[in-house]
Amino acid sequence: MKKALILLTFLSAYIALTAQNQWITYYEASDYLETPRYDETIDYCKRLDTGSNMVTYTTFGVSPQGRDLPLVILDKDGLSSPGEIRNQGRIILLVQCCIHPGESEGKDAMLMLLRDFAIYGEEEHLLDDVSLMVIPVFNVDGHERFGPYNRINQNGPKEMGWRVTAQNYNLNRDFLKADAPEMQDWLKLYNNWLPEFFIDCHTTDGADYQYVITYALETFGNMDPHITEWVNNAYEPEITKQMFDLNFPVFRYVSFRQWHNPKSGLYSHASPPMLSQGYTAIRNRPGLLIETHMLKPYKPRVESTYHMVLETMKILQKEKNILTEAIQKADEFCISGDIARHPLPVKFDTDMSDSVMVEFLGVEYEMFESDITNGVWYKYDSTKPATFTLPMFDKPVISETVNLPKAYIIPVEWTEVIDRIKAHGIDYNVIREDTEYTVESYRFSNPRWSNRPYENHMRLQQYDMEDMTENRVYPAGSILIHTNQQAARAIAHILEPRASDSYLSWGFFNPVFEQKEYSETYVMEPMAKKMLEENPDIKAAFDKRVEENPEWLKNQWGVMNWFYHQTPWGDPKYMVYPVGKIY
Ligand SMILES: [Zn+2]
Repeated sequence: MKKALILLTFLSAYIALTAQNQWITYYEASDYLETPRYDETIDYCKRLDTGSNMVTYTTFGVSPQGRDLPLVILDKDGLSSPGEIRNQGRIILLVQCCIHPGESEGKDAMLMLLRDFAIYGEEEHLLDDVSLMVIPVFNVDGHERFGPYNRINQNGPKEMGWRVTAQNYNLNRDFLKADAPEMQDWLKLYNNWLPEFFIDCHTTDGADYQYVITYALETFGNMDPHITEWVNNAYEPEITKQMFDLNFPVFRYVSFRQWHNPKSGLYSHASPPMLSQGYTAIRNRPGLLIETHMLKPYKPRVESTYHMVLETMKILQKEKNILTEAIQKADEFCISGDIARHPLPVKFDTDMSDSVMVEFLGVEYEMFESDITNGVWYKYDSTKPATFTLPMFDKPVISETVNLPKAYIIPVEWTEVIDRIKAHGIDYNVIREDTEYTVESYRFSNPRWSNRPYENHMRLQQYDMEDMTENRVYPAGSILIHTNQQAARAIAHILEPRASDSYLSWGFFNPVFEQKEYSETYVMEPMAKKMLEENPDIKAAFDKRVEENPEWLKNQWGVMNWFYHQTPWGDPKYMVYPVGKIY
């Protein structure tokens, strides 16, 4: 009997241990040094789905190399659609991992967090108010370009994925232009769910300091003021305090005025919408960028990521109603069309003449002259923590504003742009027959491009622009985009040339800058002479140009081409924005 009892005790302990063991993640089993491959990650997510009624494993697209884009939804009642979840009074947090697969803390932290909720029942009360969506690996193809040599600056894990997609796109530059198929799938998912809060997990490069984890929040004016106020007054002080209490002091993700040199001063700036938290900001949703520090060991990096997400859930539970209200106000401001009645800022700079002093937890460092180059290099001593009092430049200056029209109209032939508009989930109407509109638009001059591709685009870097009003016939199939909708800010950022990541700046409209017809100089010479004699406006414009730049006359073709553009043969669409604005 006694023997049987001992055996039984042993057996139940063994079963309990095996039950625990089956939920140990790959990362934990590796003594916190390794991160799992794609297949192991998916397998674990599927087991969570089988093992818990609260977890749903699903996919939201397929990568160019044919891998599913995985999504795990954790909801108290096992619900898996935004409508059902919100009907239960819950808000939704989306956590995205491995957009840069070499930066894998998010994935390892989230597999543990999902398990701790769903299998171990830890902190279950948070799920009364918050449901969690996790993308364990976003850049799935890049993730499988796996090896030990993918992040030279980084202290583990042992092997990791590669930064960009199989098509060499950096997904964290692609949120607005949406070139990558993965991003187009993500945008559909995002637009369908519009999660109340978003977290994007990364690992930083750069100088050494004490912080294991830093973060960025868009509070520089690119987001609705109601939500910005909530982030500034409720979320940020709270997360800072809670992380400090957990022994993970946090600081804003900043740049140094002099590269590698914290003592030179700190600055930060508005996030353009090509970046994840910049994009969610213009969709009226707060986004948090997490940047763990690459020189810290992998374990505290994963732990701090875990806590940043968990503590955010605690804040979201407490702040659910206030945040929901701020979001509703922001959406209503767009949907009602009120947004078109105020100037909308679309580009920002940082005021580098106005700073505040802050305490920064740095480490001592020395500068040396390089033995190889003329440069200076830095030796940081992480055993010597030091608190620096430094100037922080973080006051935004609005550098471009626009007045939103009632509607934009895009001609049917600009298919690439129209496809992207659809990917963003922006509402539009297709015009059924050729229609004449009086539109405002822009005429460009003096364009200059970057001299090499960036993210597969030859970006338009400089140009001059003047307003124009004209009657244009837009062909059937052209799309009319009314700005009184939830995505109003995104529409402006895509279509207003001066916005920081506008499609014009990305080069989507480069063909309009190409001259396709021209005159022979011998055809133009007598015509030009006649124009100077008979047209005083042309004569005055010509004289002004010569006076401003006498050298111009040496450029025979250029001068004659200028006259060509003054004739009725000149192309009226040359350097003219095809998109019209209807006020
Ligand atoms: Zn990153």
